[in-house]
Amino acid sequence: MTTTVADLLALPSDWIREPVQRIEAFLRQLAPLDFEGVPLYVVVEQELPPHWQRVATALGYTSPTLDAALQDHIGDGWRGRGPAMVVRFDVLRHFYLTALHEAGHLLEREALYDELAPNETATTEAQFIAEWAACENVVPTSGPTAMVPFWQHERAYIRVTLHLLYRARQIEATGDAWLFGPYEEQMGLVSNVSMLCAGETYQLSDIERYMGALGDEPKRMADQPFPEIRNTKPPRAFCNLWRRDVWGWLCKAKAGLDRGQMNELLGRLQERWPYIFPD
Ligand SMILES: [Zn+2]
Repeated sequence: MTTTVADLLALPSDWIREPVQRIEAFLRQLAPLDFEGVPLYVVVEQELPPHWQRVATALGYTSPTLDAALQDHIGDGWRGRGPAMVVRFDVLRHFYLTALHEAGHLLEREALYDELAPNETATTEAQFIAEWAACENVVPTSGPTAMVPFWQHERAYIRVTLHLLYRARQIEATGDAWLFGPYEEQMGLVSNVSMLCAGETYQLSDIERYMGALGDEPKRMADQPFPEIRNTKPPRAFCNLWRRDVWGWLCKAKAGLDRGQMNELLGRLQERWPYIFPD
């Protein structure tokens, strides 16, 4: 019997707690040293107030101070500052991969979360998120229609996310990963990975090609914390693939642009220059 999304959404709202707890536990399994002793908040977008929901533009999001913004909503579950993500739950087959994608953002950062600036409070953070969520016609910052499709999903992000994927596959292979019990057939990790990072969405080479270029690094570093990985130089093949992808994209992108648009594009690229062209 196949369970449909409508069946799942018809379940009592408490039902949502279980998969959320499972995904939190699973993310901890993937990065045990990184998340040790730190609260990790996975929040389902459909449970947020309507004015925070941005159904049209993102499957999930995170920011270094998102937990503070969500503090009221987290309520009794609040255990102090910690990394947070919001994920949509209605696009079921994407729920799990979206959480994995957002975990990549958490672990690519220097710190799992940022201290609030002296003039910021949980309330100002919440207002900021609400305003951002309420924006209609938000121009996507990344993805096929963005000016720079791989914006904020650059080489360092791809590497971290591939390490997570490698670890997830190892756990999955033991047959003991399953997060959603009877719903697992809708969640197949292996079948949907193309949306995780790299690939067509970001106008880069396929995710498996990047995985291949990492060689045995994910295996060698499977028990290392992520700062250790970030502080190690990636394999040359991986760097070359990235550089070739970016230059290839740039050559194509600039072909259709006039001078003004080209300047705009270069300005945009410059903002992320060290991320796009790291050492
Ligand atoms: Zn992202």
